[in-house]
Amino acid sequence: MSEIDLYREMADRIMMGNSDDIKQALRIVADEGEARLLLAMPGTAEQLADSTNRPVEEVRKALDGLFHKGLAFVSGSSGKYRMFRDVIQLHDATALWPEAPKELLELWKRWTEAEWASTAKVFEGFLSNPPQRIIPVEIALEDKQQILHYENVREIIENAKKIAVTKCPCRVVDGKCGLPVEVCVQINRGAEYAIARGTGREIDKAEAMQIMRKAEESGLVHVTMNTDHTDHYICNCCPDCCVGLRAVRSAEGAKFVAPSRYQAAVDEDVCIGCESCLERCYFGALSAKGEGEDCKALVNPERCVGCGLCAVVCPSNAIKFDEARPADFIPASG
Ligand code: SF4
Ligand code: SF4
Repeated sequence: MSEIDLYREMADRIMMGNSDDIKQALRIVADEGEARLLLAMPGTAEQLADSTNRPVEEVRKALDGLFHKGLAFVSGSSGKYRMFRDVIQLHDATALWPEAPKELLELWKRWTEAEWASTAKVFEGFLSNPPQRIIPVEIALEDKQQILHYENVREIIENAKKIAVTKCPCRVVDGKCGLPVEVCVQINRGAEYAIARGTGREIDKAEAMQIMRKAEESGLVHVTMNTDHTDHYICNCCPDCCVGLRAVRSAEGAKFVAPSRYQAAVDEDVCIGCESCLERCYFGALSAKGEGEDCKALVNPERCVGCGLCAVVCPSNAIKFDEARPADFIPASG
C-alpha cells in the first residue's frame, strides 16, 4: 500500500475518507511505520510483529509511542492493541497528546468549524442512543429522594476507586471561551488510562469535588456517558468549544448529548425577575415575561436539558427541578 493509501485507509475505517483534514491530522500524528502498525491492528505486540515483519522489541516501542499519542488502545486482559474507534476518540485522544504540535491543534479547530456539524448528523443516523448525557449540578437535586447514583456528581465521585483530572480536549483545541481547562474528571478505568498515558494526574475525592464546584460556578455543564455505569468520566463542558454541546445547540439540532432526567421550573412567588438565569442558560430555555416588579423567568420545557446551571446563579432559590423522564430513560450498559 502506498503512503497516500495508508492514510486514506485509516480515515476510511472511521468513515472519514472524504475529509482531507482528517487525513492530514493522521499524517501529522503517525509516521508511515506507525500507520502500517495501526492498520495491522487488532493484535498483541507479538502478532503485530509477525504481521508487519518487524522485530518484536521494535514493535513494542512503537506501540508505547502510539499509546502515548492516543492512536492505539490496549486491552489489559488480552494485551491486544486496537486503533482509535472513531473520529471523536481520535480528536479527544490526540488533542491531549502532551507533545501535540500546534499544527495539529489548529487543524482540529478548523475541522471542528468546517465539518463537525455535518459529521455529527451522519453519526446520529448510526446511534441508537446519544453517547453522552447531561447530569445536573448538585444543588438542582438537593431536595430529591430518588436520585440514581449515575446521575449524581457526588455519588459518582464518592463511589470511585481511582480518579484523575485531565485537560478538556475541546478547550485545548479551541479555548475561545476562556473557561477553566483542567476540569475533565476521569473515573476508574478512565483514570487508569489517563495516568498510564501521562495525560492526567491522580487526584483525591476532595479535589474532584472542588473541580465540580469550580465548574458549576464557571458555567460548565456536567456531561457523562449515557449508560447506567460511571466508569469513565465527568466532562465539564462549555457551549462554545465542546463538540458534543455544539451539536446539541446547532441549527440542525443534532442530538449528540441526551438531557438529564430533570427539568427546571420557576417558582413565580419567589422569582425577583433579576434575569441572571437567562444569561446563564446556553440552551435558550429561559425567557422573561412581564415588566418591572412583575418580571418573572419562564422555562421552555422543550428546550430545557436539565443541566441546573440556572439554579447556581439564582439569588432567590426560585428554580426547582422536576423529574421529567423515568429511570429507564438512561440506557442500561450492555
Ligand atoms: S433552564 Fe437552561 S440552565 Fe436551567 S436547567 Fe434548563 S437548560 Fe439548564
Ligand atoms: S435568576 Fe432566579 S430570581 Fe432571577 S429571574 Fe431567574 S429565576 Fe428569577
